[in-house]
Amino acid sequence: RRDDALHRAHEPAATRDGTAVLVGANVGSAGDARAAVGADLAGLVRTEFCFLDRDSAPDVDEQEAAYRAIAEALDGRRVTLRTLDVGGDKPLDYLSMPREANPFLGVRGLRLALARPGLLADQLRAIVRVAHDHPVDVMFPMVTAVDELVAARRALDDAVEAVGRGRPAGLRVGIMVEVPAAALKAAAFAPLVDFLSIGTNDLTQYALAAERGNEELAALADALDPGVLALVAATVEGAARADHDVLVAVCGELAGDERAAALLIGLGVRELSVAPAAVATVKQAVREVDLGRARDLATAALACPDAPSVRALLG
Ligand code: PEP
Ligand code: MG
Repeated sequence: RRDDALHRAHEPAATRDGTAVLVGANVGSAGDARAAVGADLAGLVRTEFCFLDRDSAPDVDEQEAAYRAIAEALDGRRVTLRTLDVGGDKPLDYLSMPREANPFLGVRGLRLALARPGLLADQLRAIVRVAHDHPVDVMFPMVTAVDELVAARRALDDAVEAVGRGRPAGLRVGIMVEVPAAALKAAAFAPLVDFLSIGTNDLTQYALAAERGNEELAALADALDPGVLALVAATVEGAARADHDVLVAVCGELAGDERAAALLIGLGVRELSVAPAAVATVKQAVREVDLGRARDLATAALACPDAPSVRALLG
């Protein structure tokens, strides 16, 4: 089965009844991008790689070179560049961020970027330069309030102006949905974006108040908890209320679980972004999905009391 999956990795994936589902790769380096064999796109580029293990922030030229290398490795496939997502579990010494009692509830993700407008401006300029030559999506992490997205979009407009070559034709904008309130308010964000990408890693920790990576809470912090799945469903419902198409993706770990593919597709997710090594098997899992049955599975999962019962449904 694995051989068959690898053999077909380059083919697009659709359910048995013909619903297209994009399968992307999560990329944290140019090497990952090269390993993303068969991926339809890079659904999440964690640009932190460019900022870690150094004494000062990379300048615009350096960032441009790093993002361009990824775009070139993807050779015409779309690249979703997520703006810097540090703070929380990923502090950076040279940003001299204040100590926080609860870093996961603190100044992280887009909050930090908006508090350091120079940092965000440089990064967006680098992204815009690459977007003139490659299909690029920009994605903002840890968005909580619509105002934050409005401010981030304004910073992007400023970057387009600073680069001075007009708006890159293919440049699309999206946000990560990883704060429960953002999932519940998806309809308020949808008019302002081209896509919503659910980060189930953070969404799970915030929905269940169970810190990610805390081994003692591993059983509790399960992305298959019906409470988390209800937030996925709410995101899809909110996205559908916009008067333009807003694709809903999942780029957290759950997307890479081939047993969860039918469930996520049944909930209305149409893009899964996964570790490069999981692309082929997730595509193969998509091909086995029957949309009607997947919808029934989603309805049943939402009615379950807990994650183990959902897992039992997945077989
Ligand atoms: C997530 O939170 O699910 C996600 C994809 O982002 P990260 O793991 O980088 O926080
Ligand atoms: Mg996250």
